Amino acid sequence: MTKPLIHGLSRLELDEACKALGLPSYRAGQIWTWLYGQRVSDWAEMKNLPATLREVLACKFDIVSVLNQKLEGPPKGTRKILVGLRDGECVEEVLIPAGDRRTVCVSSQVGCRFACVFCASGKGGYVRNLDAGEMVGQVLLAWKEYGDRPSNIVFMGMGEPFDNTDAVLKAIRILNDPDGINIGARHMTVSTSGVIPGIERLAGEGIQVELSVSLHAPDDALRSRLMPVNRKYPLTELLAACRRYVAATKRIITFEYTLIRGVNDSRPQALALAKLLRPVSGRVNLIPLSPVEGFEGQAPTAGTAEMFIEVLGKTGINATTRLSKGTTIDAACGQLRMRAGGGDSRKTLE
Ligand code: SAH
Repeated sequence: MTKPLIHGLSRLELDEACKALGLPSYRAGQIWTWLYGQRVSDWAEMKNLPATLREVLACKFDIVSVLNQKLEGPPKGTRKILVGLRDGECVEEVLIPAGDRRTVCVSSQVGCRFACVFCASGKGGYVRNLDAGEMVGQVLLAWKEYGDRPSNIVFMGMGEPFDNTDAVLKAIRILNDPDGINIGARHMTVSTSGVIPGIERLAGEGIQVELSVSLHAPDDALRSRLMPVNRKYPLTELLAACRRYVAATKRIITFEYTLIRGVNDSRPQALALAKLLRPVSGRVNLIPLSPVEGFEGQAPTAGTAEMFIEVLGKTGINATTRLSKGTTIDAACGQLRMRAGGGDSRKTLE
């Protein structure tokens, strides 16, 4: 039987686990500091714990949740890590340095059930949810590779965060702990394909994380064709949920719109998008399509994003373009894993 991951425990759960072992209350604080202050990856390194206690903890919990299986990209540029998990599965994470920012794009699931036509993550289907400890593990791995604490976390890797909401929210709280990795909630972004129950849940959680909603089309017919999730949560209901979220949290939503040449990038579609978003008061992040195997779509021609920015701007909607920095290293969702043979290039963690 696999042991629980120590990095999947909240601070409170660690307190309780220590109490259950009959330990004095300061032990939990010591362990937390080793995990997130010193970031050790071996129980044996926790020098101020008695050796017998280290052995007990090692029997009860795993301390290594993820391994760097392969790293691609230039040292100071966007890099992608193929992350090996304990059961031999793998996911990917992306390190995106920009100025003072050290952003980490984290995966929340192995594979994905949502099957957006342009996304590599869904091509191999869904395998399993990640544990909170495996998401925290990805951030610790990024810290090691950056040589510094990551500043921003985006849940935009493989998977749909709101198909694994409990674990994603737990990971966010662990990452946010001021005595731990201490990443401010506003520096964490959850991106959803539009799963309404997840948006509603986040609205009631009282955490100040950023919310991104992947839209990619201004009408139901096209959106359902690109993103099957739209059949369950169509645009009118999705945008109503977004409005409720904004009213409840007073936060701004970012709508992601991947531009696909000749599919969703015309002027009338830009106008339709502006009309659709006007009542929500969000901003738009335009992403040029990163071509993927198995989808014939192409990136937009030069000037398309500028046209969208202009049309949306006239309606008072702020839009920006995300440079597809990862194109050369297959950094769009799921591409590295796909190239590595999906879940088939397995390597087991020791
Ligand atoms: N499941 C979440 C997180 C996924 S990835 C979601 O759907 O929001 C983050 C963003 O990258 C999403 O907007 C997704 O639609 C987009 N994306 C996926 N594949 C892409 C590709 N090949 N080119 C451009 N954007 C892509």
